[in-house]
Amino acid sequence: MFVGHLALGFAAKRVTPRASLAVLFAAAQLADILWPVFIAVGIEQVRIAPGITAFTALDFVSYPYSHSLVFLIGWGVAFGVLYRQLTGDRAALAVMAALVVSHWVLDVLTHRPDMPVYPGGSTFGLGLWNSIPATLIVELVLYAAGLWVYVRATEARDRIGRWGFIALAIFLVVVYLASIGAAPSSIPGIYIPALAGVILLTVWSWWADRHRAPRRSV
Ligand SMILES: [Zn+2]
Repeated sequence: MFVGHLALGFAAKRVTPRASLAVLFAAAQLADILWPVFIAVGIEQVRIAPGITAFTALDFVSYPYSHSLVFLIGWGVAFGVLYRQLTGDRAALAVMAALVVSHWVLDVLTHRPDMPVYPGGSTFGLGLWNSIPATLIVELVLYAAGLWVYVRATEARDRIGRWGFIALAIFLVVVYLASIGAAPSSIPGIYIPALAGVILLTVWSWWADRHRAPRRSV
């Protein structure tokens, strides 16, 4: 799942208006930020297996540290505590932790039964990725709903806040649609674009969000 995670990041702006969208995205996507790093250093494994699901060619052989439920709870608490320490925003701790853990729930929806509860424990997955139309419906509906909440909770302060944000919202869908069925030719061909994407998404969402303000009426 990709834009479905971002949907929750967008929607969380409603409850934590002081938090940058970049931080909310990072929380919802933390598992997928850690994953390319762990693949690069070799503590988690992925295989390229075209056709393993209709939506993705990746076979997630082992990813207990980035994607098990128990580790995500730990990462979530750590992320929330760190955020609170850095910003003094006490109310945000639970929201950040919930966003990090939500990644597991949403990934269970789309993945094959490869999502571990804890390292070496039983794995779950409902396999939505076996159907491209079903994946698109679920994820794009989630995305539209998240975007709607964000747009209602904030307003543009200037043209960057309007057009930089609209461009970001469209760009994410384009990248998502372009990724369908893509089969990278090498393992670095997976984690290098993934990490570059994280940097781009962080900078762009921080920039666009800075030029928007919480709506007073909400
Ligand atoms: Zn994931």
